[in-house]
Amino acid sequence: MSEHEHANNSEDAAVSDLKDESAGIGETSGHPVAGERPEQVFEYARAPESRSVVHLRSSYGLFIDGAFVEPVDAKSYKTENPATEEVLAEIAAAGVEDVDRAVQAAGRAQKMVWGPMPGAERAKYLFRIARIMQERSRELAVLESLDNGKPIRESRDVDVPLAAAHFFYYAGWADKLDYAGFGPNPAPIGVAGQVIPWNFPLMMAAWKLAPALAAGNTCVLKPASTTPLSALLLAEIIQQADLPPGVVNVITGAGSLAGAALVAHPGVDKVAFTGSTEVGKDLQRALAGTGKHLTLELGGKAANIVFEDAPLDQAIEGIVNGIFFNQGEVCCAGSRLLVQESIADIVVERLKRRLATLRVGDPLDKNTDLGAINNPAQLDKIRELAAAGEAEGAIRWSPSCTLPSKGYWFAPTVFTNVSPAHRIAQEEIFGPVLSVLTFRTPEEAVAKANNTVYGLSAGVWTEKGSRILWMAGQLRAGVVWANSFNRFDPTSPFGGYRESGFGREGGRQGLGAYLDV
Ligand code: NAD
Repeated sequence: MSEHEHANNSEDAAVSDLKDESAGIGETSGHPVAGERPEQVFEYARAPESRSVVHLRSSYGLFIDGAFVEPVDAKSYKTENPATEEVLAEIAAAGVEDVDRAVQAAGRAQKMVWGPMPGAERAKYLFRIARIMQERSRELAVLESLDNGKPIRESRDVDVPLAAAHFFYYAGWADKLDYAGFGPNPAPIGVAGQVIPWNFPLMMAAWKLAPALAAGNTCVLKPASTTPLSALLLAEIIQQADLPPGVVNVITGAGSLAGAALVAHPGVDKVAFTGSTEVGKDLQRALAGTGKHLTLELGGKAANIVFEDAPLDQAIEGIVNGIFFNQGEVCCAGSRLLVQESIADIVVERLKRRLATLRVGDPLDKNTDLGAINNPAQLDKIRELAAAGEAEGAIRWSPSCTLPSKGYWFAPTVFTNVSPAHRIAQEEIFGPVLSVLTFRTPEEAVAKANNTVYGLSAGVWTEKGSRILWMAGQLRAGVVWANSFNRFDPTSPFGGYRESGFGREGGRQGLGAYLDV
């Protein structure tokens, strides 16, 4: 079995600049630019909107036991840029034997090194990872936008800083587990098998790894097959941070093969899954009776509820951010707008005017608001549900916008005249499609908002504080945002009710998912 360090791979190819409008800041090291104020060094810094900061390799191996290695049967697949359909790199496709090697490595590392290590020592490693993520934030942001299709403004200002923040936050917990509220001497569960989706590849990796490592577990992480690159760069960062071999392993490949083998492996003590409700339910069935710990973060169909006394300027921005952030490929997206009947016409009118200003296109252009849909299967799903909306009698509207001819694109879309029984009011679309429904009373708003199998998030827009509190108590959703939407913070637990899953990530509660008491 051949093993190679990727840093020395002669096939490495720095991909030429497609769009370097920023010669002055397009340096390649990813390190802070000379002359910046020192305090900006540890801010996440600005990512230049250029791919020159990223040295894409032509191929990537699996990260097992501290080294990048080829899969046993040398299988691979291609990951592409969804905005252009060009191939970005060849990615190793892990098989059952590779998964076994990764789990064995994680098991050894957990028992011999990471588990027995004092929490204060583990904390140092987590801090180091966070710091290196900040230093290499430009690479991370550009790579994330290339592989996922999301606007650079979002990967730069949201995904990367929030991912680093998770490591900082959980580093602080590593030596304080006794105070996390789960009883004295909480122990790590063991080896965590972690499977994540393509919509926030880096952020989901951080949400999974940081609390697990802080609690003394070791990890085998399986990124989604269409977005492996940022997790592989994170593996490189973990190597750079000198984490003991085997503490974190990253295996790439198909969910049905590598993912399924990982969660089924007897050496995995805890499975943490974020992805579709369908696969989540399959995992729950498959793991029944195995004694493995399981947490599931699944789909959603959030209601964004706007009352007639809402601060309207803010609410319009919150509706737009709620559904068009990350092209609507967000589990907690505010995909159902519930607007009080008395202001429905004005809200829809203002929303359309605002949507006409959205810029759809090149994810690496810092002015872009909406990027590409991550993969063709997802684009088909969005198209199919939008067609179903029209067929069921809802009225479809999009601003005029020219979509690029190559790549996977879907224009921002609003449906009015939606009834609660329509598929577009019930099913998760996971795309830039908003369904508008109306209500008259707060009770009706609650009934309509809760009329879903999901329960991940909701938004309430009103100037009335008592109403916010009442609504928050009535809404069956893991998160209720008040006069805001899509706000995340590592200190705050996130997770679902009902078919949105169970378990919480973030905050003190996020540690509980990785501790035995
Ligand atoms: P998906 O379920 O198809 O895939 C998720 C991950 O599971 C991928 O890594 C995939 O390779 C793997 N996988 C697929 N089949 C598997 C199997 N049989 N065994 C083990 N692993 C398997 O979902 P997706 O299309 O990547 O992501 C979109 C979905 O994720 C949406 O439904 C969205 O709502 C959900 N999501 C939820 C949250 C949350 O926090 N609740 C966050 C992001 C995304």
